Amino acid sequence: MRSVDVVIVGAGLAAAAAAKRLVDAGLETLVLERRELPRHKICSGILSPRGHRFLLENFGPLPADILHEPTSCRGVTFHFPSMVSMPMDFFGGPTPHLHRKMADFWAIQRSGAEVHDQTAFVDLKDKGDHVIVHARRNGEPITYRARQVIGADGPSSHVVRALYPDYPKQIPWFFVGQKFHDIIDCPLSADYFHFWFHPGLGHYTWSHARDGRQIVGVGFKRGDNFAAKHKVVVDYLAAKHGVRLQPHVDDEGCGENFGPSLINRYVFGKGNVLVTGQASGFLNMIGEGMSCALHAGAISGEAIIEARLRNRPVQEIYRKMIASEVRRTTDQWNPLKIAFDKPHEADFPAALMALSWTDRAKVLRDMWRFVVLFKEFKWGRQIALAAALRPFLGGYSMRRWL
Ligand SMILES: Cc1cc2nc3c(=O)[nH]c(=O)nc-3n(C[C@H](O)[C@H](O)[C@H](O)COP(=O)(O)OP(=O)(O)OC[C@H]3O[C@@H](n4cnc5c(N)ncnc54)[C@H](O)[C@@H]3O)c2cc1C
Repeated sequence: MRSVDVVIVGAGLAAAAAAKRLVDAGLETLVLERRELPRHKICSGILSPRGHRFLLENFGPLPADILHEPTSCRGVTFHFPSMVSMPMDFFGGPTPHLHRKMADFWAIQRSGAEVHDQTAFVDLKDKGDHVIVHARRNGEPITYRARQVIGADGPSSHVVRALYPDYPKQIPWFFVGQKFHDIIDCPLSADYFHFWFHPGLGHYTWSHARDGRQIVGVGFKRGDNFAAKHKVVVDYLAAKHGVRLQPHVDDEGCGENFGPSLINRYVFGKGNVLVTGQASGFLNMIGEGMSCALHAGAISGEAIIEARLRNRPVQEIYRKMIASEVRRTTDQWNPLKIAFDKPHEADFPAALMALSWTDRAKVLRDMWRFVVLFKEFKWGRQIALAAALRPFLGGYSMRRWL
């Protein structure tokens, strides 16, 4: 049985950040990835300025082959049913448009950790002073022993299921799907990620340019028809924005654990097992998850180093250290922070003030109507209520799963 200091499950960005910290501290670190690397990752690849800084500071300059065309993104444009559009540039200028398959592979290699790909985590047993990890490599069972384990295995985390079998039933889930189209004519600026606050289109509707094609994406409830939802959006873009697209040439979709960062249902693990990145629930508003995956991942690595240095239980240290990232992510959903502060890295208040009075009123009305859409979902009322009450509740209590 292979014995190491730390086993990390997953080879995404959270894993790369955790591995970098651990390897830099001299800990023998082994990454298990169920897929063959480099692996595909469904993602728009729009990196926030904070995520960009993290990559530069920790992994160095980004090579050209980890980027899609267009290679950068200026910011986000919000579109409203009243046909007001609000482009918002990222603070500090455009950020790289990541090709996740290549970018994640680059980051995990730069971390210096040993990687076993095609090795799927199956289960674990925390023995108190070490953890036994059961995995399957090329279909064969394989066992590892580690002082600590980090679950960085994304939204449908098997590490979380191993610790809390009921957890997936306790949180809001939603589905996203995107289709790739050759372009006949597209007036939407290729410099921006486009997002629609439109209840008639759905709760999560986006479009952007990639490698000469246009992506059209929709979020939908379990049981909804992806093709029908997608067609509504394509027809709307044609009618309202003059976007003319060929039938799609490719499509993909996945389930997402949307909402834990809004309602404080993070899961950080127990005993010698830490959970981080999107597996723990980190996801910013409008689905930006790379920056918080990177930072949370790094914190999980630092917590293990710190716990060893101070000879303290690792959960105690991790909970204290991760609170800053919890606060930052949760603030992104706080309506008062959005209106009067700058929790996002594109300036919503400034973009709003740049509009005429009548357009400002339309935007606020449209956003309100969009929030009301949440009543469709089982979790909607709780989410909307949590968003509205968060400023008055104070504190960032981490409940239930901690
Ligand atoms: C359609 C879509 C668009 C998005 N667009 C953006 C965007 O533009 N910008 C942005 O910042 N974020 C975006 N996100 C969110 C972002 O992709 C995620 O939040 C981020 O990738 C989370 O990183 P992670 O490292 O925590 O997990 P992941 O990137 O999901 O990595 C988890 C890894 O664990 C592996 N794994 C899973 N199970 C096992 C197992 N049992 N054993 C071993 N390995 C396992 C997986 O194969 C994967 O490699 C988007 C998401 C979607 C779905």
